[in-house]
Amino acid sequence: KLRAEHVPLQHITGTQEFMGLEFDVSPQVLIPRQDTEVLVEEALKVCDGKRVLDMCTGSGCIIVSIAKLGTPIKTVGVDISTKALEIAVRNAEKNEVEIEFIKSDLFEKVEGNYDIIVSNPPYIPTKEIEGLMPEVKKHEPILALDGSKDGLYFYRSIVASLNNYLQRGGTILFEIGCDQGEAVSGILRHAGFIDILIKKDLNGLDRVVTARRP
Ligand code: GLN
Repeated sequence: KLRAEHVPLQHITGTQEFMGLEFDVSPQVLIPRQDTEVLVEEALKVCDGKRVLDMCTGSGCIIVSIAKLGTPIKTVGVDISTKALEIAVRNAEKNEVEIEFIKSDLFEKVEGNYDIIVSNPPYIPTKEIEGLMPEVKKHEPILALDGSKDGLYFYRSIVASLNNYLQRGGTILFEIGCDQGEAVSGILRHAGFIDILIKKDLNGLDRVVTARRP
């Protein structure tokens, strides 16, 4: 009956599998998507011995997977939502990894330097929210989806702060909407980033942009 009302299956079961791990979910976090595994796989290639920060961590699925499946030396998750962070803390405990979580509006309360910053920020243009499937638009948190007018607000904001938090030579990895590869690459190029690459998801759609601070 609940599914017939478009309640996502994961809100009924309370869990979602991601990177072969189990994650608790609630209506206050984005349900982990398979597409996002591409972001984690790219991060796993470069995270060994590194300090990794996950901006807009939500359920924590990205940073928990990196901590569990890789060998970073420090893992931090940041989110503006207290309710999301409660789930993220539970997911770190459930998967037996040690992660520092910070409640912060983007980098406002973040201190220190990181070798790797990963982020799956809200990136749907406001006008497109209405056209999403009911499971998403009626049941998932708008806070985790709405990327403002052109969907790029959070990429611009995060990139503008990167020089204060990302070590020289460090790597930024973004999940993107499938039509945002050029725009997000452009934002990074304009800010002086190098080695900008776009990676595809399993559907062959642009899904991840990576770049390095010189
Ligand atoms: N990929 C998600 C969706 O299509 C959106 C995720 C995001 O905005 N970061 O629902």
